[in-house]
Formats: sequence, C-alpha cells, structure tokens
Amino acid sequence: MNYQLNEEEKMLQKTAADFANKSLAAVAVESNEKGEFQDDIYKQLGKLGFLGMTVPEKYGGVDFGNFCLALSIEQISRVCASTAVAISVHNSLTNWVILNFGSAETREKYLPLLASGEVLGAYALTESNAGSDIGAIQTSAVREGDNYILNGSKLFVSTGDKAGVVIVFARTDTENRKRGLSAFVVEPDFPGFSVGKPEKKMGLKASSTVELVFEDCVVPVANLLAEEGKGMLIALSALDGGRIGIASQALGIGQAALDEAVKFARGRVQFGRKIIDFQSTKWKIAEMATKLEASRLLVYNAARLRDSGDISTKHVSMAKLFATRAVNEIVYDSLQIHGGVGYTSEFLIERLFRDARALEIYEGTSEVQKLVISREVIKEYDRILPD
Ligand SMILES: Cc1cc2nc3c(=O)[nH]c(=O)nc-3n(C[C@H](O)[C@H](O)[C@H](O)COP(=O)(O)OP(=O)(O)OC[C@H]3O[C@@H](n4cnc5c(N)ncnc54)[C@H](O)[C@@H]3O)c2cc1C
Repeated sequence: MNYQLNEEEKMLQKTAADFANKSLAAVAVESNEKGEFQDDIYKQLGKLGFLGMTVPEKYGGVDFGNFCLALSIEQISRVCASTAVAISVHNSLTNWVILNFGSAETREKYLPLLASGEVLGAYALTESNAGSDIGAIQTSAVREGDNYILNGSKLFVSTGDKAGVVIVFARTDTENRKRGLSAFVVEPDFPGFSVGKPEKKMGLKASSTVELVFEDCVVPVANLLAEEGKGMLIALSALDGGRIGIASQALGIGQAALDEAVKFARGRVQFGRKIIDFQSTKWKIAEMATKLEASRLLVYNAARLRDSGDISTKHVSMAKLFATRAVNEIVYDSLQIHGGVGYTSEFLIERLFRDARALEIYEGTSEVQKLVISREVIKEYDRILPD
C-alpha cells in the first residue's frame, strides 16, 4: 500500500531510509552496545533537514510538516530507536514550542541554530514527584528584575546533557496548580544550570537520559515562553506532536521486528522443516503484520490531521496508545519466533524488545492516553447527546 504519499513525501521517506540503512546502520550496533550518543549523526541529520522538519524556511527549516516528520522517525527507528527519540524531542517538543510560543526575538535567536542541528533541543517536564501528574511540578521560577531565578530538578531528560536549548517547565504561582506553570528557554551555560546523574536504562542505550539541576539558575525574562501561567497549555499542546513521534517510533521498531522474524523463520529448520512453514509461525506473522498496518493507518492519520490544523488530540492519543501497545506485542512474537537466540544480543530483536518497552511510558503512559481519549469521547457525547 502506498498510503497516498505524494512525490515529496516519497522522496523524504527514501532519504530517511537511505540515511538509516547506510550512515546510521554503520554505527547503531556499536553505539547501542557501548551506550554512546553519536554527535556526528545529529550533525548529518541537521544537514539533511531532519532537525527542522516543522520549522519555516525563514528560520532555516525545511517546513515539511508533521506527516513527513512521522515518516522520517519511522525510517530512522527501524535502525536505531535511540536516534529517533532525540529527533522527535528536538522537532516536536523544542522547535515546535519555540515556533508557537516564543517571541519574534526568541524565534530568531534559537530556531536557526536548532533547525540546522548546530544545537540540539531537550524538554524538561518530569520531576521526582511529577510524572503523569505535571500539575505537581515543584521547580520554582521567581521573577527578580529582568530575570527569573529557577530552583529545582528535572528527571529523565532525553538529550539533556547534549542539548544547547532546553524547554524547562517551572512554577511561577504556588497557589494555582493548573495555571501556575510557566515555560522557559534555558541554555546550559546560564548560571546555576547543571547536569545531574544519567539514568542506567533498560534500552534506548544510545540516547542519553539525565537529571537536570537548577540552583538559583538565572534565566532572562525574554526567555519566558508566551506568558506566565501558560506552561500547562504549552506542555500539553507540544505533547500532541511528540506523541505522534513516539507512535512513529513504534512503526519503525515494529517493522524491523517483523522483518527480522520473517528472515529468521525462513532460515531456521526444525523437525526437518523451515519454521516459517509451521502454522503457528504463520499466524504470528499475520498478527504482527496486521497490528503494524493498523498502527500505521492510525499514526499517519493523526499526523495528517495535525498538519491540517484540525484538533487532533483524540486521534493522536489513540495512535500512541494503539501503536505502542502493538509494537510491544510484535517484538514479543518476533523474539518468540527466534527462540533462544532471540534472547541474546547476537540478534537485533533483543535490542528492539528492550527499546520498545519505553514507548508505552514516555510522553504520557498508556493509562494517560486512555484518560485523554475517554475525556475527548465523553465530551463528544455530551455535545451531541446532552442528558
Ligand atoms: C527513556 C525515557 C525518556 C524520557 N524522556 C523524558 C524527557 O525528555 N523529558 C521529560 O520531561 N520526561 C521524560 N521521561 C519521563 C516520562 O515522560 C515519565 O516517565 C512518564 O510521563 C511517566 O511518569 P512517571 O515515570 O513518574 O510514572 P507515574 O506517573 O508515577 O506513573 C506510574 C504508573 O501509574 C500510572 N498512573 C499514574 N497516574 C494515573 C492515573 N491518573 N490513572 C491511571 N494510572 C495512572 C501510570 O500510567 C504508570 O503506569 C522519559 C522517560 C523515559 C523512561
């Protein structure tokens, strides 16, 4: 199926696939084994335009939109999901936030650096007591003259130690849980900014995930995004885009897991027959392929809706919920088809299995997606079928 891609989309998809199959594949195994972040890969991605996918040309981006971003994250994730998560956070949670909520000055200062890949972006929302419940954020931002002074710490910040620009959410009003949050653009060389401990993760080993610490961190007032109190709105609207990225990651990992399963089953012989000829293997392959296809339709639809400007929150959460669950089922079945060797690092499926697990957790757990979907569905019923 061609998913009705136009010529530009096909070309972009091919460019991403070629980059993944050549440049990324050449370093992915080693960097995941050693837990190394590949700075050079991001420089190359910047040159190819993948770090400015939704940034207008006047700020140095390629402005291809969310659908093309989804296509490229899918292709990159087939080969290295760690690289893909950094691309997703950079485009959807950093560039997009600055483009939509930054002042003209902020956009002009940061977007060209980000879109070209000269610096990477990160997004610091989570805290030790504020994960799903972002209303519980305690990092404070107090205005003093021309600056805000930030105090607190953030956990699990992807690319946090590599980024040149970090979107940080902090509390400017201690009374108002929902409207007391604000968002800031923070640079790592601002006084009082430091990188804390790195997480020792189960998977996504080639992506860095760190604590960030703010001790009387001085942030110019000009770096406040939108206005005080808009932090919750900014966080949630950005996550609508970010979740499409994570769901696209699921497509890439799922495709790689299916490819590996078929390749392995064609070669492995037991009881005098290739295991691909056993009905139980064929059923698994059928289920994996069907789940992948359904995921792809949901994810592509959500990305196209976001590009069209339609409110897409429900569709985005449905895509993330379904695709990230499906990919975990797909990697499970693929590993099962591999038998014992699938449980060793000799085979790609072992990494895919570990990487997939994070997708149901970050950028809103599956349970949070269900809260969002049910809220949106019930709102629709309240509108069309009032009591
Ligand atoms: C690899 C990785 C990278 C990450 N990158 C970033 C990043 O770049 N920036 C960032 O800010 N954060 C990042 N995170 C953090 C991530 O977004 C959080 O882990 C996630 O939002 C869940 O929060 P939590 O871990 O505190 O879990 P909790 O919120 O404590 O949830 C624990 C469990 O309780 C469930 N639960 C919680 N509330 C409810 C509810 N109301 N109803 C039903 N069930 C509920 C959850 O679904 C989950 O199963 C990353 C995490 C990982 C693992």
